[in-house]
Amino acid sequence: MAKTELSKSTFIRAVQCLKSIYLNKNRPFLRDHLEARQLNKFERGHEIGYLAWKLFPNGIDCSPKYPGAYAKAAAKTAELILGGAKILYEAVFEYDGIRVLPDIIVLENGEINMYEVKGSLNVSPTYILDAALQYYVLNGAGFTPSHTFILHVNKNYVYPGGEIRPEDFFVFDDITSEVIQQQEFIKFKIPEAKAAVNANKSPEVAIGPHCYLPYPCDFRGLCWKSVPEDSPLYLNSIDLQSRFRLASEGFTSISQIPLEGNDNKLLKMEIEARISGKPKYQSSELQKIFYSAKQQVYLKILFIENAIPRLAGTRPFEPLPIAWMALKEDGKFIEGKFSNPYGTFFEIAQQLQYFLDKQDLLIFWGKTTDYYLHQLDFDFPILNLENVYQSESLYLPFYLDEKTPENIATKLGILNGELAVMNDEEAIRAWSGESAKGKYNSEEIQNHLKKHLFLLRELYLYVTRLIEQDTN
Ligand code: SF4
Repeated sequence: MAKTELSKSTFIRAVQCLKSIYLNKNRPFLRDHLEARQLNKFERGHEIGYLAWKLFPNGIDCSPKYPGAYAKAAAKTAELILGGAKILYEAVFEYDGIRVLPDIIVLENGEINMYEVKGSLNVSPTYILDAALQYYVLNGAGFTPSHTFILHVNKNYVYPGGEIRPEDFFVFDDITSEVIQQQEFIKFKIPEAKAAVNANKSPEVAIGPHCYLPYPCDFRGLCWKSVPEDSPLYLNSIDLQSRFRLASEGFTSISQIPLEGNDNKLLKMEIEARISGKPKYQSSELQKIFYSAKQQVYLKILFIENAIPRLAGTRPFEPLPIAWMALKEDGKFIEGKFSNPYGTFFEIAQQLQYFLDKQDLLIFWGKTTDYYLHQLDFDFPILNLENVYQSESLYLPFYLDEKTPENIATKLGILNGELAVMNDEEAIRAWSGESAKGKYNSEEIQNHLKKHLFLLRELYLYVTRLIEQDTN
């Protein structure tokens, strides 16, 4: 048996970048730290997979029980198929040095149908590509699929409560013709991917938009480390393609980009802020957003977005509050209580209303809270600080991969060791008992919420100081 050189995930990596597949195989220790958000995504995949099995009950789980058992599992798969097995989960197929494990295989009336399960609402080109690689391997191994399907989450599904019926939860997309059309591309790419994996040294690949597309590459820490901070590749106000276009036109520093005649107002503001090292802002515009209020109340809600809904009446990925807290200007905390583990937004609003004064300004960060407060016709002035920090009226003098309160505060020097916060994804992992620190720890979550509220207050005060400076 030829040695296994590629899998579905390494092949997809190779299509994105040949250097990435080389590094992944030969220098895995250089990979960036995996973010909690990505870990949450992987775990979501398992849960959905088990739910899909229920659509095809009484199958045989062929997945190898330990990493060295793939060859054995592949032999077992072939044996089971030849022996007349009808349904196989995670069956192992090997051909041409490639190993794949289709989620579900159904053998019926002399036909083989292959099902790939995805915990998302749509079918992406990458899903087609990875199903196409599986088709290539099964076909080569002598088990040509008659049909290939993607099972993904039905966006119109509303959970009625009780046990989930997978036939309502999933949508079947027949991608057989797309998968067959991709075979030429697959055959062309495999030798390239194998050559990169087996190379003695890393292939020369320049950084480019492919470092982010279709997935943010986990070797950016390595490949991007010599990009200077003032490079046009680190501009927030224009898209990735435009940043690389500027670099290819010879601009090595944002200070070289001509502002004269440039009608991109946001880009101009960003460049001016970055060069001067000071924020650029329009205080008259900021003033319009910052209502005068008796006092400010800061609100932080932690949401979980489950692909599989847990609360009757909700949809897949609908954000559900799992913990919340508010901070009044006098330093008093309002601690959220729920009558059920997932809570509802309505409950939060009701409890908050009890504490708020009509003139209090409720300050928070994020579209989700904003959306729910507007849905409820919440009867208090509200301010989404995210809108302020994303607006054309304020540009901070630094680049951020993501404009989160933690990232902004770190750059502004507000977030020091004392106030170090988890990000929300880490807090959710802590809530669900998956954090490195072990089981759900309410104290850990409460601390996260408290620190986040202090952070919100600092970010609010930062903008008020800018306005004051200008008006004095
Ligand atoms: S960071 Fe970019 S160039 Fe480096 S391995 Fe990843 S995709 Fe390739």
